Amino acid sequence: MSDLQQEFTFQTEIKQLLHILSHSLYQNREITLRELISNASDSLNKLRHVQLSEQQYRDDVPLQISLEPDKEATILTIRDNGIGLTHDELVKNLGTIAHSGSKEFLRSLASSSAGSETKADLSLIGQFGVGFYSAFMLAEKVVVVTRSYKEQTGWRWESDGSGRFTITPVEGDVPRGAQIILHLKPEMEEFTEPARLEYVVHKYSTFVPHPIKLADKVLNEQKPIWVEPKNQVTAEQHEGFYQWLAHGTEQKPLWHLHLSSDSPIQFNSILYCPPENFELLGFGGIQHGINFCAKRILVQDDCRDLLPDYLRFLYGVVDSADLPLNVSRETLQDHKLVPKLKRVLTKKVLDFLEDLAEEQPETFAAFIKQFAVILRTGIATDFENRDRIAKLLRFHSSKSHSETPLLAVLDDAKPPQPTVSFDEYIKRAPSDQKQIYYLSGQTLDSMASHPHLEAFTKRNLEVLFLEDPIDEYAFIQIRMYNGRELMSIDGVEVKFPESTETADTEVPKAAHANFPRVVELFRGVLEKHIVDIKESSRLIDSPCCLVNPRSHMSSRLQKVVGQTVQDFEQTKRIMEINPHAALISRLCELPASDDNDAFIRDCGRQLYANSLILDGLIPDFDDTTARSLRFMEELAKAKAASA
Ligand code: ADP
Repeated sequence: MSDLQQEFTFQTEIKQLLHILSHSLYQNREITLRELISNASDSLNKLRHVQLSEQQYRDDVPLQISLEPDKEATILTIRDNGIGLTHDELVKNLGTIAHSGSKEFLRSLASSSAGSETKADLSLIGQFGVGFYSAFMLAEKVVVVTRSYKEQTGWRWESDGSGRFTITPVEGDVPRGAQIILHLKPEMEEFTEPARLEYVVHKYSTFVPHPIKLADKVLNEQKPIWVEPKNQVTAEQHEGFYQWLAHGTEQKPLWHLHLSSDSPIQFNSILYCPPENFELLGFGGIQHGINFCAKRILVQDDCRDLLPDYLRFLYGVVDSADLPLNVSRETLQDHKLVPKLKRVLTKKVLDFLEDLAEEQPETFAAFIKQFAVILRTGIATDFENRDRIAKLLRFHSSKSHSETPLLAVLDDAKPPQPTVSFDEYIKRAPSDQKQIYYLSGQTLDSMASHPHLEAFTKRNLEVLFLEDPIDEYAFIQIRMYNGRELMSIDGVEVKFPESTETADTEVPKAAHANFPRVVELFRGVLEKHIVDIKESSRLIDSPCCLVNPRSHMSSRLQKVVGQTVQDFEQTKRIMEINPHAALISRLCELPASDDNDAFIRDCGRQLYANSLILDGLIPDFDDTTARSLRFMEELAKAKAASA
């Protein structure tokens, strides 16, 4: 070891990652090249930015990436003349600082290898910010020779990927930038073949905005397709550009939006929607922004200020001639152009989605399935566009629901797609219906058989079904849609349209003379749990239901909120009893006696417990199970006696 050589140990997770990468049987080694070229391109972008803002670093040397194969020595070098790395940057960035991504990437590999398919996932390495280490899939030894634009001394980083790396100063001149020298594994010799390299660059790196050279030939097109006229960009070009933006995904975008405008702001943009929502797969929040360019030159590759957070899943590029080239990343955020662009882009995306719903309902349905969970967060954050976002949401409803057959459940069949929009709902509602009804519940089947629904079904009124409490939360924010109030059907303020009142919906006949006595017996045991108990005019067959005085927040949502908000008090509810339900009229017929009264009280307790269970709540106050056991025993005894 030379005196000047320093030895370092890779950080633990990186060590694990390197072990996996160098031993993997993963077939697609091409991605290594993609990652290293992408790093080189980032480094050139950074240098260009430095040069624009700091005169002293300017020169006339064209920025470029070159691939330098040496077949005899089985070495492939990827060289750039970008910013390079200082000694400390080498230590940190190539080995000792754990990127949050390395942990997540390991986790995603572990979760996918639980199944049989481990192959697809290594290709995602770039998305986790640890792309450099893929070098060890191709190489048995990796050497990085580099000089930072800020320094005179060059450094040599070297590792065989087995746990340690060394750093040594290089004597003599080292050109600015980095050379990644891959001592290829013998079976990776193909990566010294020019034709092979050309193929890989075409496949993955066409859109890199700097020339990629092999000898004197430039391999990539670097065409800024976003400034081309819309109709001249082919589907293949879009696909390729999206795949590059999304760090080498092999998927196709679900849709794209190509925009150009001259006033009031000049800009060109292409936005792509991925076919899948990564967040739904259990990875953390989406971590990428938009490529922000000024006259085709990339100013920031990860700008999060151009789109609202609820559109954070989009990839793309925004290029504006109104953006000064030498604006720094720090001041970019405060540049007055940014909020203006954000406003226009948001509007254009919402316009586009409205059209998509009309013109390509299937694509729109696929979009909603993946991204509604993110999109709906805009309801709470973007007041200006609240109604427009609400317009795009889709729901299950009492009219779209058909019971999930048992076999389908066994088959793991998913419930059907939600299909009702607010607009469709309003269109098919009676013209005098002033409220939009919804029910919040655990599962679609449980909502479909909820007692609250009876009065609506009888009147042929549609009720939206909300499975996710967050949806209900969004409803509370929306409050009114197109002049109609959103109303939870367990609330006291529910109003039925007059046109739906028919002979059928009228309360049939006066309650039994003993009904008030039964109600009083119930009241005696339930008093402390409810605000009131009274005769119901909304129930048809069910014996009872709980009605919520806080009409805009269902009991279920109150429970959810109660779990997170301290001192949140769940409102006590009103118990409504249906005198015409079979059980209640039987109870009315029982003559008064200590024994019968005790039984009626028990029924009251059990009915209350049942109502809670139906609303997804747990009866927490008494012996529900003991009591139902007693009912069964008594019934069994009665049956035995009459047998
Ligand atoms: P990412 O590029 O996503 O940050 P990588 O593991 O590919 O993750 O690279 C780690 C870091 O090493 C980069 O962020 C960058 O700082 C540095 N780096 C890698 N390649 C180069 C290069 N060619 N020139 C300058 N710095 C580089």
